Amino acid sequence: MINVTVWNEGRHEKASREIREVYPEGIHGAIASIFKDCEGINVRIATLDDPECGLPDDVLYTTDVLIWWGHMHHHEVPDELVEKIHGRVLAGMGFIALHSAHASKPFMKLMGTSCTLRWRDDDRERLWTVAPRHPIAKGIPQYFELPNEEMYGEYFDIPKPDDLIFVGWFKGGEVFRSGCTFTRGYGKVFYFQPGHEQYPIYYNETVRRILYNAVLWARPDGQYPPLSCPNTEPLEK
Ligand code: ZN
Repeated sequence: MINVTVWNEGRHEKASREIREVYPEGIHGAIASIFKDCEGINVRIATLDDPECGLPDDVLYTTDVLIWWGHMHHHEVPDELVEKIHGRVLAGMGFIALHSAHASKPFMKLMGTSCTLRWRDDDRERLWTVAPRHPIAKGIPQYFELPNEEMYGEYFDIPKPDDLIFVGWFKGGEVFRSGCTFTRGYGKVFYFQPGHEQYPIYYNETVRRILYNAVLWARPDGQYPPLSCPNTEPLEK
C-alpha cells in the first residue's frame, strides 16, 4: 500500500469565488481524485488551516509520498514542521512540489538554493517530454499543451537536477525546466511546474497521469506498484 498525502495551502479557494469554481473540491481534492479507487494507493488530504497544518506526526510518519501545493502563505508553515518533512525525505519519503511550491519552505530547504524564477500571467504552454524512458514519462506523449497557464521562465535557481523530464515552452518565447527530479538522502523529489490556481490544470488527463506516475516513482523502495487505477487509463497516442 502506498500512502499518499496531498497538502494544499487551500486559501485561494476560500478567498476567491472564481477559483472555487475552478476547484470546487479544492486543488487538493482535484489532485486526490487522481488516486481515488486506485488499487494499492491510500490517499489523504491536508491543508494549512487544518490542526497542525493537517500533518500531525501520525499522518506525516505514515506518508510514503507527500504532494505539496502552496502559494501566498508559505511563511505560515511552521519551521518545526519543515524540519520534520525534510527529515522524512532524507529517510526515504517521496516529495512532489507543484507549481508555486517552488518557493515553499520544504522545497527550498531540500534544494538549498533561492528557487527563484521569472513569471508572467496568462500564457499558453507546450510541454515537451525530454526523457521519454523515465518512469514519470510512461504513457506521456512527445508533447502536450495547456491552453492557459502562467508563464514560468528561466533562470530557475535550482541545483542541477538528476533528470530533466519535461521542458515547458510558452508562446511568449520563454522556456522552463518544468519537470525535474532530485535525490535527497534516501528520498526522491519531483518538481512539476503546471498548476496555476486560475486554470483547471489538475483535471487535465495528461497532468493527472504524470502525477500518478510520479507517485509510483517517488514511493520508497520495496513497495509494489498498484495493480490498476481507473483514473489513469492509458492515454491516446
Ligand atoms: Zn501561479
